[in-house]
Amino acid sequence: MQYLRKYRYGKAQLYFSLIVSINLACFLVIITGAATGIKGYISDTKFVYEAVTCCGSVCSKCFFTLHTIATTLPWICVAILFAGIAATIHRIFCMLSCNYRFVRSLAPLSVDNYPGLKNILLSTHLDDQLVLFDNGVLRHAFTSGLWKPKTYLSTGVCSYLTAKEIQAVILHEAHHVIKKAPLMLFVLRILCTLNFFLPINRYLLNLYSTACEKEADDAVVTNSGEPLELASALLKLSRSYSPAVLYPMIPFSSGQRIVEDRVMRLLEPHAVLPSFGKASSYPLSLLSLLIAVTICFPLYGKFFTPLEKIECKTKVCHMIKCGF
Ligand SMILES: [Zn+2]
Repeated sequence: MQYLRKYRYGKAQLYFSLIVSINLACFLVIITGAATGIKGYISDTKFVYEAVTCCGSVCSKCFFTLHTIATTLPWICVAILFAGIAATIHRIFCMLSCNYRFVRSLAPLSVDNYPGLKNILLSTHLDDQLVLFDNGVLRHAFTSGLWKPKTYLSTGVCSYLTAKEIQAVILHEAHHVIKKAPLMLFVLRILCTLNFFLPINRYLLNLYSTACEKEADDAVVTNSGEPLELASALLKLSRSYSPAVLYPMIPFSSGQRIVEDRVMRLLEPHAVLPSFGKASSYPLSLLSLLIAVTICFPLYGKFFTPLEKIECKTKVCHMIKCGF
């Protein structure tokens, strides 16, 4: 199991590095192209504007020349860049405010009122990183907080699960706390929003989340040696409401397919499980590459197109239409 734990840890790290490097590289290429070419786009646009309005009205022939279309393309790419930045700022604000409001709405309780829970925390040395909150209806356990993450456990979970199941849940969430999982997921979601046009992001993000969950499960089995208790807790809590939209937080169980996959691993650790969605990774990668190149090319297109030739073509169009 120790080998398996390292393997999962390596996978989660690999997906994290992959998402960060793909998105940072894409963003840097686009913003560098836009920053270095902005003067050229402005002068080109002015030039085309003067050409198409030379007779006092928009010249249809000039308007649809290749040069005119090529002048508008970089602006579309710049608009996509700013749309990504605006969406990212909006998402950061929404995620932080939603999470802050949700956590503030919880009524913390002292664990002294729950001797069973207190004993678990003392035996696992996790008493300083757990917040018990008063909600007998909501059966919910999650990890939240960017800089100093904590595990949140509702009283509904404490009354619903057995002591060993609660211990499994706490150990699982403790692993997310150690790895600062909410912060990692927050960074990835920001980058994916920034490059919202890359379809591979959603696929990689799912792979990362799944690998993180399996890594935390492996940590529980390594520390407690009781996979059945964890599987039982997973099944019980998977039927409960999970406010998955309240990022950055990591719920104990979310996504029916992921939960089934995790339970199967815990029940049959040596079985080879089918990997879902692997076939779609190649088309998604190709499509993402195509979209990225389509967006980047107009920003750098000026380096590949001789300026004199373009000016000449536009002037000819201008002269013919205006009768000079
Ligand atoms: Zn988890």
